[in-house]
Amino acid sequence: MYDQSKQLFEKSQRVIPGGVNSPVRAFRSVGGTPIFFREAKGAYMWDVDGNKYIDYIGSWGPAILGHAHPEVVAAVQERAARGMSFGAPTEAELELAERLVALLPSIEQVRLTSSGTEATMSAIRLARGFTGRTKILKFEGCYHGHGDALLVKAGSGALTFGHPSSAGVPADVVANTLVLAYNELDELEKAFAEIGDELACVIIEPIAGNMNFVMPSREYLNALRSLCTKHGAVLIFDEVMTGFRVGLHGAQGHYGIAPDLTTLGKVIGGGMPVGAFGGRRDIMAHLAPLGGVYQAGTLSGNPVAVAAGLKTLELVAKPGFFDSLAATTSKMVAGVKDAARAAGVPMSGASLGGMFGLYFSEKLPTNYAEVMAADRERFNIYFHGMLARGIYLAPSAFEAGFVSAMHDSSDVEATILAAREVFKSL
Ligand SMILES: *Cc1c(COP(=O)(O)O)cnc(C)c1O
Repeated sequence: MYDQSKQLFEKSQRVIPGGVNSPVRAFRSVGGTPIFFREAKGAYMWDVDGNKYIDYIGSWGPAILGHAHPEVVAAVQERAARGMSFGAPTEAELELAERLVALLPSIEQVRLTSSGTEATMSAIRLARGFTGRTKILKFEGCYHGHGDALLVKAGSGALTFGHPSSAGVPADVVANTLVLAYNELDELEKAFAEIGDELACVIIEPIAGNMNFVMPSREYLNALRSLCTKHGAVLIFDEVMTGFRVGLHGAQGHYGIAPDLTTLGKVIGGGMPVGAFGGRRDIMAHLAPLGGVYQAGTLSGNPVAVAAGLKTLELVAKPGFFDSLAATTSKMVAGVKDAARAAGVPMSGASLGGMFGLYFSEKLPTNYAEVMAADRERFNIYFHGMLARGIYLAPSAFEAGFVSAMHDSSDVEATILAAREVFKSL
């Protein structure tokens, strides 16, 4: 069934470390061979052995319109034919910046990068340059890309491998990074009382998508906002995953909270490499060439990538887009939960917009420790059972799932049916 994938994986391991270009693609935590894909269209992907899957990874978030959306493909083709990169300003970058500023009112100015990692690294440097402070605060289970200062008890990839942080990161570099439990108000208040005035910034996934899917309480995020304001720390919402994924105005729109800076990625590139960071004008003014905080990128604002992003944002902004996406997503989650309950398997789950989490635990987790307590063995059996039935889920119990606008009710039915069969074997 997976012969071609196995062969390609064998060969890949000779020339690519672990056979993959990003660790979460490896099947280390679930066992087996990563699937190599040949083609994707809409809600489906076909692997090199010809197996067809309903895709719930969506390239880890970007594929919100489904794969190879004809209008996005046309925009990319048209743009590529007129030059792939200029290393000079283009009108399309301005249009993308204007669209981001219009859709996320907390952003007054924005700069484009080529990945989410660059966006978070740059936002932190900017916060430090702006405040003149060194210390930063992050939360357990949140992932903000692979920048050195943030690989302290890092999220998904590192979680899966059981390493709390990365080798090769000097102790000095993370010595200024404080890590707190997510969604724990007492701890947060205590930390701010102690070092609030020394904090350059707090970076948080306002809805966590790298420890499966965890929504913090409104009370918690509101308290975080006021504490940052009171102590002069820059509040960074890392919406690389949640931006234009949980709703048209991101997690900040859902909670009604304006961060000082926002980082973006994934959906804003529509499947091409685009990241962004933006926010208050007085903070952004500290960036080179205006200010002293250096940040740059040869391919930043790449015209082909920006064309894919612009078309994607245009289509997700159509009236009713997120209502319909959210309905499909919650229908699937409810169906899978019902199937588990009928089989006597403890399962909890939640979703917002086109993002969801399902857990093999009775109660919905609210922080990292609770996420880690879910039944991993059961997840692995579930993962392989679903894969064999043509349902492609993230190969880790610690990843959120993604639904696209192309998933229809027959896809949802097929998914629930497959889950029902798999639950019988649990
Ligand atoms: C994916 C992700 C990143 C990193 O983005 P890359 O484009 O992979 O560098 C940062 N923060 C969050 C919340 C993410 O989900």
